[in-house]
Amino acid sequence: MARENSGYPRRKPDADDGKIVNWARNATLADSSAVSAPKTEEELCRLVAASRGKIRVMGSRMSPGRMLKVVAEGDTLLDLSQLRGLIAMDEQSATFAGSTPMHEIYEILTAAGKMLPSSPGVIAAQTLAGALATGTHGQGLQQSTIADEALSIRMVLADGSVADFDRSHPDFHAVQLGMGVLGVVTRVTLRTCAAKIYTCHKNAVSGDTLEQDIYDWNQNFVLSKAWWFPNENQVHVWTAREANGEEIAQYRANNSDLVKQEETSDAMNETVEQTLEHMRSDTKIVDENGKPFRTVTRFKDFSDVTGDVYQVFCRGIATPQINVEIGIPLARAGEIIRQIKAWHSETQPHMHYPIILRCTGPSESWLSPSYGADTCFFGFVVYYAEDGSLSEEGVSFLQAIEKVLAAEGGRPHWGKYFDESLYRWPEIYPQWQAFRQVRDTLDPQRKFDNEFTAELFDQ
Ligand SMILES: Cc1cc2nc3c(=O)[nH]c(=O)nc-3n(C[C@H](O)[C@H](O)[C@H](O)COP(=O)(O)OP(=O)(O)OC[C@H]3O[C@@H](n4cnc5c(N)ncnc54)[C@H](O)[C@@H]3O)c2cc1C
Repeated sequence: MARENSGYPRRKPDADDGKIVNWARNATLADSSAVSAPKTEEELCRLVAASRGKIRVMGSRMSPGRMLKVVAEGDTLLDLSQLRGLIAMDEQSATFAGSTPMHEIYEILTAAGKMLPSSPGVIAAQTLAGALATGTHGQGLQQSTIADEALSIRMVLADGSVADFDRSHPDFHAVQLGMGVLGVVTRVTLRTCAAKIYTCHKNAVSGDTLEQDIYDWNQNFVLSKAWWFPNENQVHVWTAREANGEEIAQYRANNSDLVKQEETSDAMNETVEQTLEHMRSDTKIVDENGKPFRTVTRFKDFSDVTGDVYQVFCRGIATPQINVEIGIPLARAGEIIRQIKAWHSETQPHMHYPIILRCTGPSESWLSPSYGADTCFFGFVVYYAEDGSLSEEGVSFLQAIEKVLAAEGGRPHWGKYFDESLYRWPEIYPQWQAFRQVRDTLDPQRKFDNEFTAELFDQ
């Protein structure tokens, strides 16, 4: 099992010392006495204005603990769960309180026959403000991050005042993805569009031509996602297009529930069994239906499906994990895939889980990993073992692969795990200094910093 100093903390699944922990239960965020849960925006303004310590805001706490941690006496961890829900909706947009969970947003929009133009992540337990703050994204080149659908963002600033930032505001592209260091997001107006129904084709193909296939799938289909199993040289790919009239009729006849085509394929079954063998030995979880296993068993006997974007793509099984996701300009993805193949055949690393490939269009947020370019995200996951540890080989794999991608100018997902020593931020983010200037203006006293964000921006 992995050493404690791997940078990936051990989970303490059962610890209950009255402290606030993150969702993965691998980090203590604060003493419970440090938590404040204002009931109104006015109360929040008073609290921020009066605070003399540091302030961090928590959403659903799904990010690594270092993003959220506050340590000193007098520091505050804000719980805004009472400030949630729909505030307004019109033909083209909807305004939600910052702490509204994404699944609530998707449910409200779906009921109104609408959706966000951006596709969802694999889970929807995040809060809207948490998703914005870290650049949370789904897949598809015709869209980008959830933050890119923001039309206007309202924040409580460090002095306790309230400010609205719309798209014409010079600081907007900093505020879109602010990592919680610019202010407290209390409401966001999001662009919406009419809900669409998709048919998603699922396939199992050889990895031999992945460096070309990744472009074809993403250029030919509005939404695409792939799981690459390098050991077995196989790729499971989903490619979705808008459903035709017949498929939509079938979907409506099914009470607008996901329609699974009867024809199934067992082409992934052997690969899934091999992956499960690794996962079982890595996690020591004995329950055959344990959550981590279900994330791959669902690839067995797969079939095409028809449903809305949330039914098709937002189906993740949230399981405590270390997830690393690095964005690389799409134009270079083929070359990176070739490099990973060469590295894989040379080192024969222990693969705990397939490599997840999702591509998005360019983001306008200055600190988005997909800023300014079509981007291919390479995702890697290692699940925690039953006892809260991580397999040593799984950890070595994550560390080695992150080095490969960081050396290629990759940009890590802010809400996942990364080794900050591998990145030269001002070189990979052309607007890094501009973001820092906005931070200087909005929070000159660094009220919204913690140790991690201070090191990140003040280096
Ligand atoms: C199982 C799992 C699956 C995931 N799947 C995906 C995926 O498919 N795609 C993807 O891109 N990411 C994914 N992620 C990453 C996830 O979307 C991010 O970690 C996201 O930030 C979590 O939102 P949260 O509400 O939990 O925010 P938190 O983790 O609580 O906070 C994240 C950041 O947001 C800030 N913040 C929160 N609320 C506010 C506010 N009101 N004002 C200002 N700042 C605020 C916090 O201070 C912190 O800096 C996944 C993570 C997990 C654990």
